[in-house]
Amino acid sequence: MSKIIILMGAPGAGKGTQARLLQERQGLPQISTGDMFRALKEAQTPLAEELRVIMNAGRLVPDELTARVVKERTSQPDCRRGYILDGFPRTTAQTEMLEELAGEQGHQLVAVLVDVPFGMLERRATGRRHCPICGEIYNVHFKPPAVDNTCDLHPDTQLRQRADDNPETMKQRLVTYERDTQPLLDYYDRSGRLHRVDGTRDPKAIYADIERIVMASE
Ligand code: AMP
Repeated sequence: MSKIIILMGAPGAGKGTQARLLQERQGLPQISTGDMFRALKEAQTPLAEELRVIMNAGRLVPDELTARVVKERTSQPDCRRGYILDGFPRTTAQTEMLEELAGEQGHQLVAVLVDVPFGMLERRATGRRHCPICGEIYNVHFKPPAVDNTCDLHPDTQLRQRADDNPETMKQRLVTYERDTQPLLDYYDRSGRLHRVDGTRDPKAIYADIERIVMASE
């Protein structure tokens, strides 16, 4: 059966890195609500300004808008064989919406928690950098590029840092995660759909575990 793979985990746990690997190797599209909101917030519109305020404060975008964005994106033809959700759902209302959507689309839900102790997250997020061309994710502490602040694959391109990967916003993002998103783990666990992987290891080792889980869930 076709699957929706939900990557769960705190900010800085490495969901994006794993979602990119899954997309590359399983041929399923990566749907990142964070990426979609980051693109939307660049416009010169009242909505973009609202998103900038919310995201810089480390708060969540309202459920209604988030649900609309996800529904629209996942109704595209490339999602027919299933897809990877990175950063969604984050609230109970989003979880309920996703159950309904999965039913309508005929997909099975598989949730994977990339588990990283809270104490490690701030350093992970604040060290994170990405290539604006290919999206490759680096970390100045754990996975530095070969040449300082330059993408390995695009040597003319300077790496960038997300506006919300600063210590202050990160603190609030962790509070938001604990309050709104962590309880959802219980929900998926109770229905036997939550799988945990140790997210403190090398990304390749984490990916191997996730691939095994995805293959085994029929
Ligand atoms: P992320 O890239 O997943 O860390 O998301 C960055 C920011 O986008 C979050 O801190 C939220 O402000 C917003 N965001 C991303 N996904 C969601 C979601 N599912 N619900 C509400 N807000 C979201």
